[in-house]
Amino acid sequence: MSKVLVADKINEKGVEVLEGSAEIVNNPTITPEELLETIDQYEGIIVRSRTKVTKEVIENAKNLKIIARAGVGVDNIDVQAATDNGILVVNAPQSTSITVAEHAMGLMLSLSRKIAIADASVKSGKWEKSKFMGMELKNKILGVIGMGRIGSEVVKRAKAFEMDVVVYDPYISDEVAKNLGVEIVEFEKLIEVSDVMTIHVPLTPETKGLISKDQLYKMKDHAIILNCARGGIINEDDLYEVLKERPELKAGLDVYENEPLKESPLQTLDNVVLTPHIAASTKEAQRDAAIIVAKQVKEVINGETPSNVLNMPIVDSETFQKLKPYFKLTEKLGQILVQTTTANISELNIVYSGEISGRAKEPLTRELLKEFLNPILTEPVNSVNAKSVAKQRGVKVTEGETEDSGKYDATIKISVKYDDKEMTIEGTVENNELKIISIDDYDINLTFEGLMGIVKYTDLPGTIGKIGNVLGDYKINIAEMKVGRKSEGGEAVMVIKVDQEITEEVVSKLEETEYIDFVKSVKL
Ligand code: NAD
Repeated sequence: MSKVLVADKINEKGVEVLEGSAEIVNNPTITPEELLETIDQYEGIIVRSRTKVTKEVIENAKNLKIIARAGVGVDNIDVQAATDNGILVVNAPQSTSITVAEHAMGLMLSLSRKIAIADASVKSGKWEKSKFMGMELKNKILGVIGMGRIGSEVVKRAKAFEMDVVVYDPYISDEVAKNLGVEIVEFEKLIEVSDVMTIHVPLTPETKGLISKDQLYKMKDHAIILNCARGGIINEDDLYEVLKERPELKAGLDVYENEPLKESPLQTLDNVVLTPHIAASTKEAQRDAAIIVAKQVKEVINGETPSNVLNMPIVDSETFQKLKPYFKLTEKLGQILVQTTTANISELNIVYSGEISGRAKEPLTRELLKEFLNPILTEPVNSVNAKSVAKQRGVKVTEGETEDSGKYDATIKISVKYDDKEMTIEGTVENNELKIISIDDYDINLTFEGLMGIVKYTDLPGTIGKIGNVLGDYKINIAEMKVGRKSEGGEAVMVIKVDQEITEEVVSKLEETEYIDFVKSVKL
């Protein structure tokens, strides 16, 4: 029978899941030395955050198939070493969604009914009834920023309170929004109409400082803002300044720019409720995490693929070597599309031709989906979970193949439907160099890398010159340029490789130019 080590204290319901399938060794106080010495006996290990599964441990783990984290963060596991050694790493990101959503509701009520401050007042011997006039939540507008696992749970709960919900999440499709019964609005509108605003996005370069002075001043006078996501999404200095100036505005925070929060002027304000990053801390979340990961360990022992795999030791090395340049091509074509379309993708169609059609398409499609999904989601999307995450998010993925790859060994053609538009890009690998063959079926034929620009324009005399002039004005040197068109005077596409980045300002300038209707800067 397979042996599984439970190296940290996990909820007993998790252990029960494994009973009968594996011999379970419960050693929640195991030392690093003991772990290193005994790890080779086990096929599975379950940890929380105490046990460090280091590279050394992994290299000694000759029989290990799966490392399971009964929780979310995997900082204590060397995921790269696990991947290199063909060991799956799984976690349970969904285990805390309801718990965090409930905490957000708790903060909301605490502020709308001034519960925390009223509690402090009564405990200090006062009876200040008139000071604590509240706000009913019924018929108020809840603005949800980020409609992933937690955001969706908050919506369900807010609806039970008869709140009207608006959502800002540029990465969910209209269909997903419709199924959840919410109205998608622009970011600015959400800020202006919300009586309560709650943040459930990952911390990314895009969301860092998403809420600062500008937004806080635009909020309604009596509004409430909540952050149970990650510190840094709201600029804390700005928040303090605005809350001090506008005492009717209120904030509830569970997460901070620097944790633990030691000294902050926010601690001096009455219109703030602060909790010490406990939104995910409930017994139920811990129990669910234990059950979810134990089920995955059981699946691996039974030879099945578990659901929350964080790494990808799946392709055999021979196939991998053959596919390696095409992984790179898929990744880069994906990056171009991510940077040239909006993220509201409803359909992705990929056609493989030549030597990579057949068995290779599956891992390549997954690689492509990773490029689209990773920049916008909290949990890493990997080759194993990419397709199911795309499905959950309402992105329709279709794959086709053809043996005819023209003059190339193999080609990959990707079409993306987004908003009500479509964009297609086709590429290949030639002499180990990545090459764009066409964009929107206009022939291009250009090796690519680094800094680029993609321009769609009307093919009239002088237009190319105007593009060159604008770039020249901004001291941007064109290294190489290819244009594609189907007929004289019709629509044409230009791809330029440049030595300096085409900044937003240059993009706007080009967009203002006559006969140019699409300009995107690409950085690979
Ligand atoms: P998720 O990945 O399921 O959802 C994130 C959502 O944010 C996605 O729908 C995505 O499309 C959207 N998004 C990404 N970038 C965006 C942007 N710029 N603008 C608007 N929407 C954007 O994540 P989740 O599990 O719901 O977690 C949400 C947040 O909660 C994360 O920051 C996570 O780290 C945090 N969290 C906090 C605690 C806690 O203890 N306080 C516990 C668990 C999770």
